[in-house]
Amino acid sequence: MPDNDFESSFAHLKQTIPLLLKHKVSALPINYALWYTYVANGSAGLKSAIDHAIQNKLPLTESKTKELYRQHLAENQEVTAWELRQSLEAMLIELSQSISDTRSETTNFKATMDNCVDDLVKVEKEGLSIEEVMSLVRNLVKETQNIRRSTMSFNSALSEAQREIDVLRTQLEQSQQEALYDALTGLCNRRYFDEELASHAMRPDLFLLLVDLDHFKKINDNYGHVMGDLVLKATAKKLQACCQDGTQAFRFGGEEFAIIIPNSNFSRARSLAETMRKSIEKISVKDKRSGEVLGGISASIGLAELRKGMNPLALIEQADKQLYEAKRLGRNRVMPIL
Ligand code: GH3
Ligand code: MG
Ligand code: MG
Repeated sequence: MPDNDFESSFAHLKQTIPLLLKHKVSALPINYALWYTYVANGSAGLKSAIDHAIQNKLPLTESKTKELYRQHLAENQEVTAWELRQSLEAMLIELSQSISDTRSETTNFKATMDNCVDDLVKVEKEGLSIEEVMSLVRNLVKETQNIRRSTMSFNSALSEAQREIDVLRTQLEQSQQEALYDALTGLCNRRYFDEELASHAMRPDLFLLLVDLDHFKKINDNYGHVMGDLVLKATAKKLQACCQDGTQAFRFGGEEFAIIIPNSNFSRARSLAETMRKSIEKISVKDKRSGEVLGGISASIGLAELRKGMNPLALIEQADKQLYEAKRLGRNRVMPIL
């Protein structure tokens, strides 16, 4: 984060935390991201949605928060959890640094003051002073002692702030591990996927797609990881755009995505997979450095139906088997055909 953004991000942080407390919202990254965007005025839609909820005293429940996040942040990549984490991290580092700088300055100041007090006391003891000087000296001693006292309490306040920052950083790390969203693409992550599948496990008419980008390693090798990341973001966006009626897209890991399709049948699920495959073919990403446009991206997709007695692992294995078939037969296709 550039230096000139430091002050404004800090100002936003200072506004965000009291709002989380006021609305009794826990300081998880998703909540923080929402309220940060709200105070930073990063999304007009989000602002009016939250203002509406506040005005009408509607509770901002966990599911409402997730919905707002999905609508206003996950698809709008301007404020990704990753960026927030980076900025918060940068801010904490700068703040700790300035605190330790200030602390060493105040320690020096205290040493100087101590010397000063000693000298003045010496002047007094050696009887070099006349009456007026004596009173001046006494005043000086008093002043200096005052300054020394306030410096010491300032110092302990700084230590306290530093300790709070350490606690905040630990909490941030913990909540990051508990996060349900993938920082790069904004999609729900693997942890969310596992929980979602477990909660759906007993429902019939559920289909799973495993989507794996073809020869993705070559994209990284030929164009670099930054371009690779842009392709992953673009893929996530395309997949998300195809999701309706309870269908959910997840980043399964690396260059693999998973789609859970509830209440469907084979032909509808397969046709959705085809739509997704075709929309991935349309992706084009521009390399800002060379101006070159990268296209020709494709994905292979494995489809599986949740059958009676199947657990989530068996469903994933089945989709993975079909994905492997799609790769074996030449990639850029959906399997099975029938
Ligand atoms: P295949 O068609 O058989 O799937 O070939 P592939 O190259 O897509 O598959 P492989 O598993 O060999 O390589 C996947 C690559 O994805 C390797 C890894 O470096 C890359 N990758 C995984 N996660 C990320 C990521 O977050 N960003 C970027 N840029 N690359 C990633
Ligand atoms: Mg793969
Ligand atoms: Mg691949």
